[in-house]
Amino acid sequence: MDTFQFSRPTTVDQAVQLGSRSSTAQQAAEVRFVAGGTTLIDLMKLNVERPKQIVDINVLPLDKIETAPDGGLIIGALARNSDVAHNSTVQRVYPVLSQALLSGASPQLRNMATTGGNLLQRTRCVYFRDTAHACNKREPGTGCSAIDGHNRMLAVLGTSKDCIATNPSDQNVALIALEATIQVQGKKGNRSIPIHEFYLLPGSTPNRETVLEPGDVIVSVTLPPPVAGAKSLYLKLRDRAAYEFALASAAVVLKLNGNKVEYARIALGGVGTRPWRSLEAERALKGNSINATTFRRAAEEALKDARPASENGFKVELAKRCIVRALTMSTVA
Ligand SMILES: Cc1cc2nc3c(=O)[nH]c(=O)nc-3n(C[C@H](O)[C@H](O)[C@H](O)COP(=O)(O)OP(=O)(O)OC[C@H]3O[C@@H](n4cnc5c(N)ncnc54)[C@H](O)[C@@H]3O)c2cc1C
Ligand code: SF4
Repeated sequence: MDTFQFSRPTTVDQAVQLGSRSSTAQQAAEVRFVAGGTTLIDLMKLNVERPKQIVDINVLPLDKIETAPDGGLIIGALARNSDVAHNSTVQRVYPVLSQALLSGASPQLRNMATTGGNLLQRTRCVYFRDTAHACNKREPGTGCSAIDGHNRMLAVLGTSKDCIATNPSDQNVALIALEATIQVQGKKGNRSIPIHEFYLLPGSTPNRETVLEPGDVIVSVTLPPPVAGAKSLYLKLRDRAAYEFALASAAVVLKLNGNKVEYARIALGGVGTRPWRSLEAERALKGNSINATTFRRAAEEALKDARPASENGFKVELAKRCIVRALTMSTVA
């Protein structure tokens, strides 16, 4: 690990100032905020991240979980994944988020990992994490070792010829289904970014993963008030039952009117280059009766644009079955 400067601002303004001193992209990569450190420190040990300055944001007052004036929920960026997962309001009103968080990592990691850090966790593509291999995400323009290499864990939706890496988060799949908004403070003031606009597709610039700019501090994530009468659920399929990333996962929020779907939000994990909302699946569900045929049609729609690589073709059928199963589980009383 290289040496670096270390600072610990006590206000968000100071953190923004420290984070936005850079004027070039290269300088921007030299400053990193650290929250739980469970992504950043790992990547520094691997020489994937080599910041010259670390800005520790842990003393900022951003760890509260509070009811919003509109009846929604405000989750501070420094709220730990375990605190959010075990929060009584989250468990009662947004169970999909609690379930997603508890399916991720291990208890020790969840005690450290934060809401903001989880939003920005990096891909687990093995070539991204190994500096001996070419990787467009780590070093733009060097090539993608995964396209003709080991790609079993990687994405089938939203890929490009330059990168097929999966967004590995569970939390973020639930946040997409809940239509969360990311609250950011930066050089240009405060911004509210709907989560569906937060993540970028890899295209020809896979190194750029979100719309954040240098110095932007995520201050909180807000959830809209729950849809009255809706149920939500997270289902994660993986190689082993614990301490493993998703091969495919589904977050569903469903409201029924009698036997018909009145409201549906469907998001997928483990298969997309970003946490993946499927508007196609939602359209296939809305207004239709809940039965195996409707659920399978929704699943087919969700994966219709899938483009598997050499080793991950199995994910297409797996993700479809994951959606069908999650929908079935969420509609049994
Ligand atoms: C062994 C292992 C297994 C794991 N398994 C899973 C799993 O199954 N599912 C899953 O979803 N995740 C898993 N994870 C990932 C884990 O959830 C993330 O590492 C964690 O959520 C990151 O949060 P953090 O606070 O530690 O982030 P940090 O490492 O502190 O930061 C991550 C990034 O976010 C930036 N950042 C952090 N906070 C802010 C902020 N407020 N504003 C702006 N930038 C910020 C940092 O600069 C850094 O670039 C696993 C991790 C490990 C090490
Ligand atoms: S898939 Fe993306 S992260 Fe993996 S090697 Fe290719 S460019 Fe790098």
